[in-house]
Amino acid sequence: MICNLSQRRDTGMWRAATTTMTERSHGPSKMRLFYTVTIWVTFVHCTAGIPWTEEKLHHRAVTLTQEEIRTALSHTDLEQMWQRDLRPLMVTRYPGSTGSQAVQEHIKTTLGSLGAGWEVTEDKFVSQTPYGQLPFTNIVATLNSSASRRLVLACHYDSKYYPPQWHGREFQGATDSAVPCAMMLELARALDEELKAQQSTTPDLTLQLLFFDGEEALFQWTATDSLYGSRHLAQMMETTPHPAGATDTNQLHAMDLFVLLDLIGAPGPRFYNQFPSTMHWLSRLQSIEMRLHSTNQLVDHPNNVQYFWPNQPVGHVQDDHIPFLNRGVPILHLIPSPFPSVWHTFDDNEQNLDRSTIQNLNKIMQVFVLEYLNARPAIPSNPQNAP
Ligand SMILES: [Zn+2]
Repeated sequence: MICNLSQRRDTGMWRAATTTMTERSHGPSKMRLFYTVTIWVTFVHCTAGIPWTEEKLHHRAVTLTQEEIRTALSHTDLEQMWQRDLRPLMVTRYPGSTGSQAVQEHIKTTLGSLGAGWEVTEDKFVSQTPYGQLPFTNIVATLNSSASRRLVLACHYDSKYYPPQWHGREFQGATDSAVPCAMMLELARALDEELKAQQSTTPDLTLQLLFFDGEEALFQWTATDSLYGSRHLAQMMETTPHPAGATDTNQLHAMDLFVLLDLIGAPGPRFYNQFPSTMHWLSRLQSIEMRLHSTNQLVDHPNNVQYFWPNQPVGHVQDDHIPFLNRGVPILHLIPSPFPSVWHTFDDNEQNLDRSTIQNLNKIMQVFVLEYLNARPAIPSNPQNAP
């Protein structure tokens, strides 16, 4: 049974109409009591009958007005993202490297400095690799850790390791995945006010950002030489009770939707549908793309749909979502098909990034997050309209 607000509202209207009609013909008190009890039972069933872990299946996002969207997007700034976040991320940053350490510090410092009150934790571990034991660190940032449900955005911050015979050439991993990580930091910064306010308006639903280490194979992609960070974090979250003290639910149950961003930043990306169960969220991204296009808020975007193609299925891709998918978490995998032409080459660098695409996707993702979290930005009052 699907219970949602509109059905509840309909039931209430039906009760009002039916009560009036029956009161006339059958005597008021018994019938009123009967319908009141019926409605009360229905209401209790609808509100308490759904376990909180299933609320994600019935979640409705709000649709922001044009004015709300303009207000929300007024804080995003591509140039600022480029200088503050992207440049510091585009360094050699394979697991255990000094670049990795610097990137971790950057992510933690950035989120820690924001007003929304991110709780930033680390998942540190050591794993056997083809090059021996290496240290790994995942970073987990949660806006309101007491909220039962979480919209999750994820990226990997490690870069692919190239051994010494490539000495002298630096693999920047710009699309893979410096840009997705910078987009997530920019989203947190641009929406800081809205995310702060959202915690009191929708306290049961929050945003979580995951920055994985060790996505890349160190030598060659196998089940054990890849996805080091996501495999570790998925296992850890599965064994961590949520909400605190729960006996039969864990942190993976808290995940409404796990949105993985990868290989973003090249021109002309197309995101197709990998998972039918989350197709409606890809459709929402498409609708946001169309809405922003129609209000001229996208740059170098001649057609109303260019990026999101929910009706076109595509095969699965091995990536950081796999350990979560295997444990039943709903996945939206935002990875372009085909991959960028520079993928895993030394040309995956700053020069080959497409600024317009990144700016447009920043805006689309920011609206998506606000709408999912039911976070309506406060429209600044216009003094000219004041009495
Ligand atoms: Zn890669």
